[in-house]
Order: sequence, then C-alpha cells, then structure tokens
Amino acid sequence: MNFKRIAFVLFVVFLGIVVAQDAYVSRLRNREVEPRMYTVVLSLDGFRFDYQDIANTPNLDSIQKNGVRAAELQPVFPSLTFANHYTLATGLYVENHGIVANNFMIPQTKQIYTKSAPEKVADGRFYGGEPIWVTAESQKIKSAVNMWVGCDATIKGYRPTWWQSYSADEPYKARIDSIIECLSVDYDKRPHLAMCYIEETDKVGHRFGPDSPKTIAAIESVDSLVGYFRQRLASLNFCDSINFIVLSDHGMVQADTLSIVDLGKYVRHEWVDTVICSPAISLAYCKKDCADSLLSVLKDVNGISACLRADLPERFHCSATVRMGDVVILSDSSKVQIYNNKRSLPAGVHGYDNANSLMSGIFYAEGPSFKNGFAAPRLYNTDVYALLCRLLEIAPAHNDGQIERMECVLKKDE
Ligand code: AMP
Ligand code: ZN
Ligand code: ZN
Repeated sequence: MNFKRIAFVLFVVFLGIVVAQDAYVSRLRNREVEPRMYTVVLSLDGFRFDYQDIANTPNLDSIQKNGVRAAELQPVFPSLTFANHYTLATGLYVENHGIVANNFMIPQTKQIYTKSAPEKVADGRFYGGEPIWVTAESQKIKSAVNMWVGCDATIKGYRPTWWQSYSADEPYKARIDSIIECLSVDYDKRPHLAMCYIEETDKVGHRFGPDSPKTIAAIESVDSLVGYFRQRLASLNFCDSINFIVLSDHGMVQADTLSIVDLGKYVRHEWVDTVICSPAISLAYCKKDCADSLLSVLKDVNGISACLRADLPERFHCSATVRMGDVVILSDSSKVQIYNNKRSLPAGVHGYDNANSLMSGIFYAEGPSFKNGFAAPRLYNTDVYALLCRLLEIAPAHNDGQIERMECVLKKDE
C-alpha cells in the first residue's frame, strides 16, 4: 500500500468516527433528562394468571425476561371487573371504596349503580376512596386515563387531566395511540401517569370459555397489542424513564352449565326490594325482617351458598357496606345462578372466591425501577396503588395495601 492509500484509509476511518460520535451526541441531546419516572399501566380485562402458558405470547415473554412476572395477581372479592379495577386504582377493599360489583344498589336511597348506564358510571357520588389519578393530580402530577372504571367521574373534585369514557367501539390500537399522543406533548403538559384498558380477553373468555381456541386467539391478539404498545413507548425520546406495567383484574373459569340454579324458583317478591344477579354472585336487598325467610329457602339448594352479609368470611372485606345487600348468594366454583333470566348463559365466568387461583390475574412490569428477569410470587391487587405512588414519588392516601409485599419487584435502590 502506498502512502496516499494509507492516508485515504485513515481519513475514511476518521470520518466514520466523527459521524458516529455526532449521531451519539445528538441522540443524547434529544434524550431528555427526566427528574421523575413515567408510569404506564395497561389492564387486560379477564387475562387469567396462566394464559401466558397456554398461548403464544412473545411480547409478555419479553417483558418477563426484561422485567418482572408475578406468579399471579390476586383480585379482591368479588372477582368482578368494576370492583377490581377500582381496587387497583385505590388500594382499597370493596367495603372501603364502595364499588362492590358491576351493578349494585344503595339501600338508603334505592339508587342503582349499573355498568350499562354511562351516567351512573361517570357519577362521582358512587365512588369512595381516592383513585391514583386523583392522588397524582392533587399533587400536581398530570394523568391520562383511558376507559378505566371511574376515570370519567369527578372524585374529590378531580379528574385526570385527560380521560376517555368507556367506548366498546373504540379500536384497541386507537386507545393505545391516544395514550401515546398524550405522552408526546411538551414536558410541562405531559402526564407522568397513563392508564389504558382493553377488554378483549374478558369478552371472548365469557363468550367461548377460557379453554376455547377463540380465547387462545384473543390472548395472542392482546399480546400483539402489548407489543405495539411497547414499540410506541420505545419511540418516545424519554423511553428510558418509563415504567410499564401490564396487569389484569381477574381470571376466568369454564362455566358448568349442566345444573343452573334459578333463584326465581325460591325468592318471593314480597321478601326483596331487588336482587342483583350475576352468574357467580347475587346480592339480595331484603325488605325489613325478610332476610331469614330468604336464607331458609336457599340453605339447601345445591350449587350455591347463601349467607347474611355480616356472615361473609372476613377475608372478603365486604361486610362493612350495605351496598353488598342483606343476603349474599355465592355460586360454588364454576356453577352458575340466574334470576328468572332467559338470556344466553356465558361459557366463561368469574366473580367467585378470590382465593381460587382461577380467579387470579396477571402482573408484568418492566422499566428502570423494576428488577430484570425476576419471578415474583403471588401479588395482591390491593397493593398496586401503593406501588404506583412509590413509582410516581407521591404521597399515598389511606389505603388497604401493603407496599412490603410489592417491594420485591423493585430494584434495591427504588
Ligand atoms: P364483567 O365481565 O361483567 O365483569 O364486565 C366486564 C365488561 O364490562 C367488559 O368486557 C366491558 O365490556 C365492560 N366495561 C368495562 N369497563 C367499562 C366501563 N367503564 N363502563 C361500562 N362498561 C365497561
Ligand atoms: Zn374484568
Ligand atoms: Zn368479565
């Protein structure tokens, strides 16, 4: 090689180094130095604790590898959607936050809360406790909440800075896009807490049952959505400061519809104001002195067990609120009850005893605050609120959670 050639090669190498360095410096400049971490929570309704093991879930697998996967996330009783989303948001048992089920009555006023009436769902007067977005907003941390139960209600005078009421028609990707849009604004307007809700696994699980190939397809499709969400988060220039949590509210069990209990055969109208019935649990609001009559006709019925609200197991943390009714009728696991109800029965059901693992959901997390490749034991959804407060560095309101049970998922210095 002559001298000219050597000089040329050296020049090319030098040029390469300069260009690479420039790119590195400009990436560093674009990456903002974040004084506070961002927390993004995705709820996959009805995603059972073991769904990852029965379907192809490369994206959840990848979170597990990079971050944390818990053996299960135990819901509170009753293992229903509204009760549990609001527990996740507040860290409170249902007797302390008041959203005891998807549908319930306030006996003193005879007001009915029902998930099918958007104006009730958005009425802050039903909601006790303090959801995480209220804790955040009241401490000057902005939040963006998409379709989470309670996000469109004014609670303690606050709503999220940005919220979207539940709309079954809104495509799932569009929900994720909305969150990304919220996160893409200038720093001083940007939320540090973002929450998003997707119901596909619940919807399909009810219709076809948890063991159906249709549910496996639904698991795989929501896993792809998790991948899409991660990819969009990774495109934000502060992606290194984002903690991402994927969790669910409860599991699902294949319904045993061979022997259905029709409460209508036993309940006399003169005993009750209302019976709010769902396949796994019914709440009977009795007229004065009629609870015993109702109990006496239900006590020997196969497939269910009925008791006074006060006699529910203490671990259910339900007895302190009259919203649970006077008599609570529980289906035995996988059994189904109806109340003069001719609608088609679901193939998958939840709402049973929360200690039954089939009612457990998932907890995955990744990001700068979480351990890498950590298999956490069973976690409890009452503890998520306190975890979110820790991640957001805000002071928690009073809650029923135990942060010590969650600390194992965090890096030591968090
Ligand atoms: P369930 O399976 O009966 O516990 O209720 C879950 C279903 O409620 C979901 O599949 C959604 O269709 C619906 N849902 C979830 N969030 C809301 C909401 N905020 N308002 C009304 N309906 C909702
Ligand atoms: Zn649910
Ligand atoms: Zn459901």
